[in-house]
Amino acid sequence: MPTLWDAEFERTLEDLRARELLRTLRTVGRVGPRAEVSDGEGATRQCVILASNDYLGLAAHPSVCEAAAEAARAFGAGAAASRLLTGNLPVHEELEAELAAFKGVEAALVFSSGYAANLGSIPALVGSGDVILCDKLSHASIVDACRLSGARLRVYRHKDLTKLEDLLKRCVAFRRRLIVTDGVFSMDGDLAPLPEILELADRYGAVVMVDDAHGGGVVGPMGRGTTEHLGVDPRRLINMGTLSKAFGAQGGYVAGSRALVGHLRNRARAFVYSTGLAPPAAAAALAALRLASSDPSLRAALWANVRALREALGEASGRLLSADSHVTCVLIGAPEAALRVAARAFEEGLFVPAIRPPTVPQGTSRLRVTATAAHTLDEARRAGATLAEIAHDVLPD
Ligand SMILES: *Cc1c(COP(=O)(O)O)cnc(C)c1O
Repeated sequence: MPTLWDAEFERTLEDLRARELLRTLRTVGRVGPRAEVSDGEGATRQCVILASNDYLGLAAHPSVCEAAAEAARAFGAGAAASRLLTGNLPVHEELEAELAAFKGVEAALVFSSGYAANLGSIPALVGSGDVILCDKLSHASIVDACRLSGARLRVYRHKDLTKLEDLLKRCVAFRRRLIVTDGVFSMDGDLAPLPEILELADRYGAVVMVDDAHGGGVVGPMGRGTTEHLGVDPRRLINMGTLSKAFGAQGGYVAGSRALVGHLRNRARAFVYSTGLAPPAAAAALAALRLASSDPSLRAALWANVRALREALGEASGRLLSADSHVTCVLIGAPEAALRVAARAFEEGLFVPAIRPPTVPQGTSRLRVTATAAHTLDEARRAGATLAEIAHDVLPD
């Protein structure tokens, strides 16, 4: 029986399809550098996966998986209640202590996802009477959290410090000013100018929050993130991150002072009113964090593969967006062109889905290509060369 709204849903889907913006789910057989991927027509193809955020290859690492299995046996499959009731387990406390130490701050609080970490923490930090200054390319979870907070939202052009300063000058009358930015921008791979942002924040009495979902575990000599990479003292800001990318598990966190974490424990609704992070996810994240912080060979393998991929992509280099990080983007433009390149790549056994609006601005559809530590150098090199060839064939110069 259709509901009253189903016909309208169908029309919306038709419209998205007509504009090449319809999104569909592809079945990927497992997490890792290679997998069977469904072709959308009932068959599957063996592919090299170049689209995951499992940058260090830890999601399928034997000791990470074993930690998850052991935690399920020791604590249970789920936390069974909010942490503030009966859901607070030793594995949560251990994970938070080690995250704080890893980030170089006093304390940390974990949420059930990075999305929930932003959605819970930002509205707990600011509200009506306050203002948020936010980079234009900030992640959707930041934008949603800002709206939910009830604070005024001012968006500055991507990494434009002049514009940010203009806005700060005009926001002196607000009670509080919060600047929020991605550390490594998720769909461009470039880095926020944190030292300069902090200097402006100090000058105009603002606090800075950085979402380092893509930087944690990866950038900086020890993988501590964008703050480490850019030489910024993490204690000067509010550090948010995820456990679902380089740490290969699930969950998100906010790290900073003890006072901040105490406040969030009481005020972040996505923490207070949500079941504690599942013990297997917490234990997997903890095992991954230990590997990421003790084994520099993982980052070395990642960077070697990223370099190999970029070098081989060379011919398409006019279309490469940024070389600041491990996230490599090939700018294509129209969504149908991006889909065409992605479809050709799939035929060659490379899974690189096209990134289209609204994830990225109109006219900037792209391929976001991620080599991970788990690929071989040869895979990274071949993937780059194949993609360069396809782009050359399919796209006008
Ligand atoms: C992925 C991502 C998130 C959300 O994290 P999840 O753990 O996947 O919910 C938040 N911010 C940024 C910048 C991200 O890339």
